[in-house]
Amino acid sequence: MNKPLASYRIDTQLIHAGELSPRVAGAVSMPVFQSSTFASAGETSYHDVRYIRLNNTPNHQVLHAKLAALEGAEAALVAASGMAAISTTLLALLSAGDHLLVQDCLYGGTRSLIAEDLARLGITATFIDADEPSGWAAALRPNTRLLYVEAMTNPLLQVADLQGVVAFARAHRLLAVIDNTLATPLNYQPLRSGFDLALHSCTKYLNGHTDIVAGAVVGSAALVERVKRRLDHLGGALDPHACFLLYRGLKTLALRVRHQNRSTLAIAKFLAEHPAVQRVNYPGLPSHPRHQRARELFGEPGAPAEQGGFGGLLSFELRGGRAAAERLLARLVLPIDAPSLGGVETLITRPAATSHAGLAADERERLGIPESLIRLSVGVEDTDDLIADLEQALGG
Ligand SMILES: *Cc1c(COP(=O)(O)O)cnc(C)c1O
Repeated sequence: MNKPLASYRIDTQLIHAGELSPRVAGAVSMPVFQSSTFASAGETSYHDVRYIRLNNTPNHQVLHAKLAALEGAEAALVAASGMAAISTTLLALLSAGDHLLVQDCLYGGTRSLIAEDLARLGITATFIDADEPSGWAAALRPNTRLLYVEAMTNPLLQVADLQGVVAFARAHRLLAVIDNTLATPLNYQPLRSGFDLALHSCTKYLNGHTDIVAGAVVGSAALVERVKRRLDHLGGALDPHACFLLYRGLKTLALRVRHQNRSTLAIAKFLAEHPAVQRVNYPGLPSHPRHQRARELFGEPGAPAEQGGFGGLLSFELRGGRAAAERLLARLVLPIDAPSLGGVETLITRPAATSHAGLAADERERLGIPESLIRLSVGVEDTDDLIADLEQALGG
């Protein structure tokens, strides 16, 4: 190609980045190399020996190259799940005696990892309001090494001061790490905004087909190599067949996420205007407290703001409380009542009964997650069909 691949739009990179040249036996689709080990080819370092756990089979290599290209990064690494990517990254970058600053509203697994597992290893954390930079300096300690945030929170879709986070991390020489799962590289490019590492649960949008769990770490070659060495020891490698599926799923990321952006914005507007709905949480609505910030941060480079880049997840509350929420879930035909998000099927769940069921009711209320809150992960079904289904389920 005479034009550098990196200068193409993300749709083109999703198809062509990482592809082997020449193609294996001419195969247009990268085959799956389901081989645990490979004949030695003069490797001198343990970490270069070709073995599935060492994250370097041909299926890993093409996947790493494609993922890195999407975020304009030097390197990427896949892991056996989003939590494997997150735990391995934090264990690679932090040691006993280190301290980190963490956004207070986090994915539950990450919160437990930091509050329980890292604490047991002597790595301490202070939870900060990532919306309020004035409080961050007071939380700093001489041993603070890292600042950890999420692109948008789940299930309330809060949007933290991400540019403030980067500036603060720079000023205090902290590593800035972001979980970019909810935004995806289509809607937000954290490395281009100054974050050191972007993490993903590829289980969600990147794979998009609700059939594997996988994770990824994307960033500079030096940092990603540090994480790879730790992953080689901890063993949370992604199997080649899952690599193959993720590689396949990625090719339609732009088509899926662009549809989900539009569809979710339309559904959010419909819900916000419906008399049975008390409140809708979606950064694409002007009523969202950080709508302006979300407009500045999210969206495809070069795309008009009206096109929206606010993602495929929203949450809402009904006026009738928990009983009305349960009635809605029972009446809906298309959305499947299931946890998780980011797939082609629309999924619906009541966080108080699933993801946040482990918390006491008053703790949930404090976090702003009442019994009546409903979370919707919008799939790629026809938007009008989904709205008609919501309308029949809300009515009467
Ligand atoms: C699902 C999720 C994770 C965990 O990913 P797994 O693939 O389930 O291990 C981490 N962060 C966010 C934001 C998620 O939605």
